[in-house]
Amino acid sequence: MEARNIKQRPDKDQPTSLSFDSQAVHSGNITDATTGAIRTPIVMANSYKLPDDPSSLDWSDSQTLFYNRNSGHNQLCLERKLAAMERAEEAVVFSTGVAALHAIFFTFLKSGDHVVVSDVTYEAVWRLFGELLPERYGIETTFVDINDLAAVRAAVRPNTKLIHAETIANPTTKVADVAALAAIAQDSSVMLSIDATFTPPPMFRGLEHGADFVVHSLTKYINGHGDAMGGAVVGRAGLMQKLKGDALVDVGGSISPFNAWLIMRGSVTLPLRLARHMSTAQTVAAFLDQDPRIAYVMFPGLRSHPQHDLALRQFGGTGYGAVMAFAVKGNPEVQNRFVANLRLITSAVSLGHDESLIVHVGKEGRGGSDRYPDMLREYGHLRLSIGLEDPDDLIADIKFALGETFS
Ligand SMILES: *Cc1c(COP(=O)(O)O)cnc(C)c1O
Repeated sequence: MEARNIKQRPDKDQPTSLSFDSQAVHSGNITDATTGAIRTPIVMANSYKLPDDPSSLDWSDSQTLFYNRNSGHNQLCLERKLAAMERAEEAVVFSTGVAALHAIFFTFLKSGDHVVVSDVTYEAVWRLFGELLPERYGIETTFVDINDLAAVRAAVRPNTKLIHAETIANPTTKVADVAALAAIAQDSSVMLSIDATFTPPPMFRGLEHGADFVVHSLTKYINGHGDAMGGAVVGRAGLMQKLKGDALVDVGGSISPFNAWLIMRGSVTLPLRLARHMSTAQTVAAFLDQDPRIAYVMFPGLRSHPQHDLALRQFGGTGYGAVMAFAVKGNPEVQNRFVANLRLITSAVSLGHDESLIVHVGKEGRGGSDRYPDMLREYGHLRLSIGLEDPDDLIADIKFALGETFS
């Protein structure tokens, strides 16, 4: 019996000319050959039956199904779906968003290489480039204000291999101009990786703006239900094959079949959820913006946001994501009191879930740098991820908590 190769299966489930909404429903799903089930079943097997002559197999192959670390049925189906939604040649999925990010850094950087990184990034990326990769592997990093394009250009050196930024940065909502960064990267023959966790498709497709790698924490909007972790990188086939060969097969941050299946299911409703997340976020941000008890609101959809015009141009006016940074007037103890007074909005990390989540991030990221805007350093900040609740209920919850906090 031949080892199964998903790419050789009938492709009726892989529509290419459909709209995003239709692709979100159909792409990646394969009718089960054994049972006829019209939904891809969860295949909880570590190993798959080998071909009659297994000595002909490449043990580092990540397309043929033989071992779940290299590739699994649910993993490959999810990759097909993400590639279709991103209009990418290929996708690679990992156990977490950080595993996906690290896979790029591990695969494409070596000792003596230099990287230009945005001065506002997800905490794990900050530590990887600020401490772990320089100290352990001799990879040099320059953190720059990613909106200062002259500074980005000036930071590129002969040994620079990669520029890394987030479309909308976690946690301050700083927006990066991906096409402008891609132009700098191309001029200098450097690769560009973009963490687009806050801006999933159809809102934004980083490859179409010139990025070499687009990364998602699938844990967030793409799964959307707060019940599974995953990460993905999308890009050109050659780069994705190298990522799989080096970082998946030989480092091993592979996703479980169950989590891949959950994320497949969650992603079906991504376009519906995202539209609702974004419209509610705009309403809640506007409410916070006019309340005198609020110290500041950072949300790219507000005209007061420093990169509002860029965000409007780059994301096409369909929305600005659904995460905002704000603070109530007062010290950290007041921020905590406000959060404790919320009854609907949950205090927990993560974002992009069906329920609204809030985190008191504090005044500075790790490293104690001055990379955060003045008002965030003055008051600290709350990161609010808007869920799928009714906007009126969310605003009522915030009003109630403000009333209790300042009474
Ligand atoms: C959450 C997050 C990550 C990390 O993803 P995990 O799935 O938690 O590992 C990376 N980047 C951004 C922007 C995130 O919000």
